[in-house]
Formats: sequence, structure tokens, C-alpha cells
Amino acid sequence: MNIEKIRSNFPILSTTVYGKPLVYLDNGATTQKPKCVVERLEDIYYTTNANVHRGVHYLSQHATDLAEEARNTIQKFINAKHNREVIFTKGTTESINLVAHSFCQRFCKEGDEIIISAMEHHANIVSWQLQEEIRGIKLKVIPINEKGELRIDEMKKLITSRTRLISVMHVSNVLGTINPIEEIIEIAHSHDIPVFIDAAQSIQHLPIDVQKLDCDFLAFSGHKIYGPNGVGVLYGKEHWLDEMPPYQGGGEMIKSVSFAKTTFNELPFKFEAGTPDYPDVIALATAVDYLNSIGLPAIKRHEDALLKYCTEELLKIKNIRIFGTSGNKCSVISFLIADIHHYDMGMLLDKMGIAVRTGHHCAQPLMHELGIEGTVRASFALYNTKEEIDLFIDGVKKVVSMFS
Ligand code: PLP
Repeated sequence: MNIEKIRSNFPILSTTVYGKPLVYLDNGATTQKPKCVVERLEDIYYTTNANVHRGVHYLSQHATDLAEEARNTIQKFINAKHNREVIFTKGTTESINLVAHSFCQRFCKEGDEIIISAMEHHANIVSWQLQEEIRGIKLKVIPINEKGELRIDEMKKLITSRTRLISVMHVSNVLGTINPIEEIIEIAHSHDIPVFIDAAQSIQHLPIDVQKLDCDFLAFSGHKIYGPNGVGVLYGKEHWLDEMPPYQGGGEMIKSVSFAKTTFNELPFKFEAGTPDYPDVIALATAVDYLNSIGLPAIKRHEDALLKYCTEELLKIKNIRIFGTSGNKCSVISFLIADIHHYDMGMLLDKMGIAVRTGHHCAQPLMHELGIEGTVRASFALYNTKEEIDLFIDGVKKVVSMFS
């Protein structure tokens, strides 16, 4: 990978903050956008803007074609069997809410159970808790071990005849753990239980083939994969999506409407109510093309090297605690040093131009499990460099010396 060339595609990386060169290590929260994505958006608004699926005129048809081509790009990217299994949403959160709402409405009765895990992001907890309130389903939680790995032995014990779905994250946004989703899916399927994969923190790092994985649902957000904000993807196997009722009403999700009876459109449109965010959908496909032009295996190798180097350097600092010590990790390091508050560390690093995340990372139950309020989190992307890790480590050491 030619990092300098890659970095030149991201103008924001050469900006300064407080007079210092920006070191952006908050990629788990959102990634920066390459020029091609921003230019694509500008181009769409300047040359192609029209509502999709609605107009007989040239622009509308052109915009529709581009949006549907974008669906094909995503289909290929995750190797979905059909393009109608790719639903565009606002992001991972909306994708999970959609499935929680629609799946539970169709398949869950009071007392039925959904299994999630102790390391989930709030999006994969609260969406199901809302269904607990509405439908009286029960949530069960897979515990983690001291390395921050899922206890698959315990997961097996949670499965009962009332289990309707297992919903887990692929990569933890706090611990960096890569969960054994292949094994989880195999176990779940041996009990005829479908599996939802939250791929918000994996899609930008690991090649994903939904047919090979055989997952039933999978979600990710555009903004975490170098694409635009406000767009995301829900993949679902056709037979599940076919049976599930629509999530929202209006727009292209109808076939016919009368006051007596309304019928719904086919997949994928049944789940895409209202005017779709087609400029962002099209630019998301540009981001995927960009990623493919570099190649996920090369990106993973580069990010793994950064993760290894950063971990080794951090471990040289006295009284450091790294949360998530699995041998199978990806692009994220969470830590605390002595009794330095995570906000203090984050704010002082910020003054040195270094952007990291602090706090509970939308995983408060995991924080309770770890017995802490929050961590400092550095998360890496394809454009980060070893020199940036050095600046980060120097910055952390400076903060430590300020407090000692
Ligand atoms: N799931 C995980 C693992 C995440 O890290 C995030 C965001 O940080 C989400 C879900 C929610 O993503 P979004 O806010 O883009 O919907």
C-alpha cells in the first residue's frame, strides 16, 4: 500500500488543529472521506439530482439507474445472492431497529427470547429492549471472558425452544475482539435460529461474504467505511425479508393504496419508505469501489501492523490496562493508565492534535461488566501511519508525565 498516495486522497488528513498536524485515531466513530466520494456527491447534485423511481424524465431515470447500480455494487461487495436482499437504510442503528421491529412483529410472541451479547453497542441492545416493552420478549446476554471474548460455551446454554434470533456484533467497537461469527451461526442454525450480524466495525476491515457466512441478516453504516453519513445497509436473506412486514409506510414501499386496503411493494422497496437518500447511496458505492481498488486484505495487513505496534508501545507504559486482549483483534485499542481519567487523557491529547475517543463508546453494559466508566480508544484506518502512532504514544507519555 502506498500510504502517502492514499493520504493525498483525504484532504482533511493534512489539516492542522491547534497548530499541530492532525492525527486522526477516531476511525471507529467515523472514517474520513476520500476525494472521490465527496466529488461524487457534488457531481450528483450538480448533474443528476432528481427524485428516484418517480419520474418519467431523463434525470429521474438516470438517478434511479445510478442508485440501483449502487445496490448491485453493495450486493457484489458482500456477495449477497440477490440485489433485492440489499436494503438501504440510514445506518446500522436503523437496520437493527428495522429487523427488531419487523422480525419481532412477525415471529415473536410474549416470552420468546432474543440472545445478544455483553459487549454489544447500545444500538443492538436498545432496539431489542423496545421490543421487550412492546411485545414482552426476553433478552438473554452471552457473557464475556477476561480477554474480552464471547463465552460460546455459555451461549449454547442460553439457547432454548423459545430462542427466536441471535444478534451479535462482528467486531467490538470497544475491545476490538473479532467474534467467531462462523461458529455462532453454525450453532444457531443447528437449532434453526437465525443470526443477525452487526458489521459496523468489521465491514471496513474484513472481507465479508454473506453467502459463505450464511448469516440471516447483516448491517453496516456508510460513514464508517469511508462513505457518506446518513446511509447504511441492511442485508437480509430473501425468505426472512419476504415474510417480515414493512417497518415504515409511505413512498415506494406500496403497490397500491386505498382506504380499504393497502398492498406493499416487492423487495427491496418494501423496506425503503419515503424518498431514499440516493445521492449518499450512490456515493457509498463510490466508497466501496475505492476500498476495493486498494483491497481489504492489504488494508487488514496494514491495520494489523499498526495495532500490533501500538499495543506493544502502549504496554511499555507503567500502570496501563488494555481492555480487550484477545489474540483475534481488529483496529481498536481501549485503555486506561493509572488513575488518569479518560476525559483528561482525551482532552490533553486533543490539544496535541491527536483525536481519540473517550467515554463509554455506547456500550454502558460492557463498561459495567469491566467495572469502569469509560476508556480512551484509539482506532485505526487504512490511512494511518506508524509515525502517527509514534506521535500518539509520545502524547500519551506526555499526559502521563503531567499527572505524575
Ligand atoms: N454497532 C456498532 C458496533 C458500532 O460501533 C456503531 C457505531 O459506533 C453502531 C452499531 C451504530 O452505528 P450508526 O450510529 O452508524 O448507526
